[in-house]
Amino acid sequence: MNMITNHLPTAELQALDAAHHMHPFTDANGLAAKGARVITRGKGVWLTDSEGNQIIDGMAGLWCVNVGYGRKSLAEVAARQMEELAYYNTFFQTTHVPAIALAAKIAELAPGDLNHVFFAGSGSEANDTNIRLVRRYWDIKGKPWRKTVIARWNGYHGSTMGGGSLGGMKPIHAHGGKIEGIEHIDQPYWWGEGGDMTEDEFGLARARQLEEKILQIGPDNVAAFIGEPVQGAGGVIIPPRTYWPEIQRICDEYGILLIADEVITGFGRTGNWFGSQTFGIRPHIMTIAKGLSSGYQPIGGSIVCDEVARTVAEGGEFFHGYTYSGHPVAAAVALENLRILQEEHIIEHVRDVAHPYLQERWSALADHPLVGEAKLVGLMGSIALTPNKATRAKFAGEQGTVGFRCRERCFANNLIMRHVGDRMIIAPPLVITPEEIDVLIARARTSLDECYAGLKADGLLVAA
Ligand SMILES: *Cc1c(COP(=O)(O)O)cnc(C)c1O
Repeated sequence: MNMITNHLPTAELQALDAAHHMHPFTDANGLAAKGARVITRGKGVWLTDSEGNQIIDGMAGLWCVNVGYGRKSLAEVAARQMEELAYYNTFFQTTHVPAIALAAKIAELAPGDLNHVFFAGSGSEANDTNIRLVRRYWDIKGKPWRKTVIARWNGYHGSTMGGGSLGGMKPIHAHGGKIEGIEHIDQPYWWGEGGDMTEDEFGLARARQLEEKILQIGPDNVAAFIGEPVQGAGGVIIPPRTYWPEIQRICDEYGILLIADEVITGFGRTGNWFGSQTFGIRPHIMTIAKGLSSGYQPIGGSIVCDEVARTVAEGGEFFHGYTYSGHPVAAAVALENLRILQEEHIIEHVRDVAHPYLQERWSALADHPLVGEAKLVGLMGSIALTPNKATRAKFAGEQGTVGFRCRERCFANNLIMRHVGDRMIIAPPLVITPEEIDVLIARARTSLDECYAGLKADGLLVAA
């Protein structure tokens, strides 16, 4: 029996899944009680489940399937590379063509003097690399006391010990702890935390927390600041326009390294190759993964500027690397993915077609009685659910209850839209067409209506 192409009935698959498969970020018993949805096929922006439902994927998998599902050329490149050279390492004075070609291509696409790539297997691994890289950099510079990395509360940088520590999610820290030398400042989340300030004032205030934190720790103890140009897993928090220029000014003034975690915002998501270009950030290091291969193979990395790469080289051997750094199959697939993004003008499609079309329809959702704000940059968007728009109120009761209920309605209506607390978020494949955007919006509206009716019936439209 081939379980991949000729699978068992759904209930049997669910029972095996519950018995043997430990899911990431999942309440295992809760899932076992209802059974996981089994996804069997993907084509473009569409998924099929084991019951034959056609689901529109508003999340591009986990923010990664930028070129859409079912691309034959990516499968062919992988098969060809496996036959030619399935694996070789790049540790011991050896290299191979896919890693060379991919590093050169990334250097060509990345802005400024970001010309060097250290490969990893994922975004989390790449951020672990970044911690070691910036500390190593300062060692070689003769300032080994510069060790602290400053990040943001509610940021997400992965789930390894390093990545999870950089991230500002307390439930993650609570499971296994947090490494030394990571400090957090507040996030630039105006709708939820901006109080009476204007967005511009609030953006500056939150950026200036970086300066306060640097002064508190001592400028000579800080190695780097890391941030996502737009927080993704934290709820698609699009910062006020005053935020990043002020962060940049502070990093420049105190000479600390700036790391842009572009795992989501890289490779077209915001309408440019990188989110740093959209927000005018000049990072020393970029973290990449997800859209680098459109999720067709697991691969990530750090794009490093000339000065940092040169300094680390001067120090001799850097004792760091992964068995699968620059894996030839993953690298070949990523290279083909970049060719598709470029030759099919997918970033131009986001900028000139899909974003403007979705922007109009997405912001119209703010008219819905349940929706407080509806924001979008490129093709990543969020809506805040609220019992009172005027006061930007939170719901009474546990945060995320309403978001979860809304997500369940979306699921039932064959739309994948995620919830983060009581924010609903989307990041569809970049190839989504206006017709498909219409389907996404219609299903989102239906789901919001059903959620609203349910909350009303259950007496849950109550402000905290
Ligand atoms: C997903 C994500 C990561 C972690 O990547 P993995 O491949 O899951 O390890 C890191 N940073 C950001 C911004 C992410 O969205």
